[in-house]
Amino acid sequence: MRIGILGGGLSGLGLQRFLKHESEVLEKQERVGGLCRTFYKDGFCYDIGGHILFSKDDRITAFTRDILGENINNCRRNNKILYKGRYVKYPFENGLGMLDKEDIFECLLGYLNNGHSDPCNFEEWILHAFGDGISEKYLIPYNRKIWKAPLKEMGMEWVERIPKPPLEDVIKSAVGIETEGYTHQLFFDYPSYGGIEALVKAIIEKDAEITTGYEVKKISRKGRGYIVSDGTTEKEYDRIVLTIPIKEAIQCIADVPENVLRAAAALRHNSVRIVLVGVNNESLLDKTAVYIPDPSVAAHRICYMGSFSRSNVPAGKSSLVAEISTYKGHEFHEMSDASLMEIVASDLDRLGVIRKNEITAADITNIEYGYIVYDLKCTANLDKVKGYLSSMGIEMLGRFGEFDYINMDEVIRRSMSMAKRLNGIE
Ligand SMILES: Cc1cc2nc3c(=O)[nH]c(=O)nc-3n(C[C@H](O)[C@H](O)[C@H](O)COP(=O)(O)OP(=O)(O)OC[C@H]3O[C@@H](n4cnc5c(N)ncnc54)[C@H](O)[C@@H]3O)c2cc1C
Repeated sequence: MRIGILGGGLSGLGLQRFLKHESEVLEKQERVGGLCRTFYKDGFCYDIGGHILFSKDDRITAFTRDILGENINNCRRNNKILYKGRYVKYPFENGLGMLDKEDIFECLLGYLNNGHSDPCNFEEWILHAFGDGISEKYLIPYNRKIWKAPLKEMGMEWVERIPKPPLEDVIKSAVGIETEGYTHQLFFDYPSYGGIEALVKAIIEKDAEITTGYEVKKISRKGRGYIVSDGTTEKEYDRIVLTIPIKEAIQCIADVPENVLRAAAALRHNSVRIVLVGVNNESLLDKTAVYIPDPSVAAHRICYMGSFSRSNVPAGKSSLVAEISTYKGHEFHEMSDASLMEIVASDLDRLGVIRKNEITAADITNIEYGYIVYDLKCTANLDKVKGYLSSMGIEMLGRFGEFDYINMDEVIRRSMSMAKRLNGIE
């Protein structure tokens, strides 16, 4: 059996590694890696936002450690939330003791005296799980920035990603006793050299058949198999697995029913603009990431690349990447790189993170598919599109292939499990 894997991100490359069948990866960019690519500018190395390796599944950690071998830096998280000019411990509910007394009181009261009934949307879920204080000071404004959508119009499909804080933690942190939240990612791995793309490079086997610069534009059936075309070259496979965005893949197929096309077009995603800021000193090495709920600041998060690995920054210098989520039509989406750079630099200067005159390197990478936006119709629309693709025998995998808000560990786990299933088919 020969399998065509559409898309050369971590999903496609992971699947290829675990498959025993012959396979070819088709990637539209000149370089594979997708969201796990790493970029370079003036000696600074940066990823598409912070890309750290952690997993609750020991098999996945064992696998990534095995393929990275010696090229691993084990780090301890030192994330903060920048709230009212203070660096508060992350997650917010574990840093309450660092707030001023009035804020501590409101967070504690809201958590303990939580009258919010069973939630029907994401905003209600936040209030139900955390109470008014924590929600209104941090979770609601932060999530509004990242999703750029009214939280009342978002579903709860993915909320299991956000651990609910235990009662003892909230009380302890409010009175100033040290606690840790999100302990599954307190320690994480990151390549010592080569940024997160080193993981992608390590996953590709020597004899892997990969075609880059091939943008899938047409998918059709031929007998029991499939033909894929980029408009110039046709390729034939017995099976295909798509890891490219499902809403684009559906447009490559002829005669799709109108209601399925409408459902695919209604699936919402956010883009992300990644702004590298390199400075001429080592001031950006003392934290891993800073979350910024302040709506007047463009970025929702900044990650200090040199804290993941010192090889990401030149000696004597340091850097951060600012993550700004956008969507077509949003002012940050349409803005030139130069204007966005100016906004980010001014924000960081105003917040006291850096001084503008310290900047020695700047760069921007724009990514069309960054986040899945779970609006209230997402699941119903997705079911229609997936149902149609399944009826054609097409497999779907990955963050945008399945349209599911998953991280690298889950991507690898699903690649392994799909390969196991396909390996069982002659
Ligand atoms: C800002 C940000 C931070 C993140 N941080 C973390 C983190 O800290 N830890 C973690 O575990 N995960 C993190 N992730 C998630 C992680 O990046 C993804 O889970 C993973 O990279 C998804 O891989 P994928 O192959 O499914 O998708 P993608 O990486 O999107 O790959 C899809 C590929 O398909 C290609 N393609 C698209 N259209 C076509 C076409 N028509 N023809 C051919 N090829 C096509 C694309 O070019 C791309 O290479 C983060 C993601 C973002 C956006």
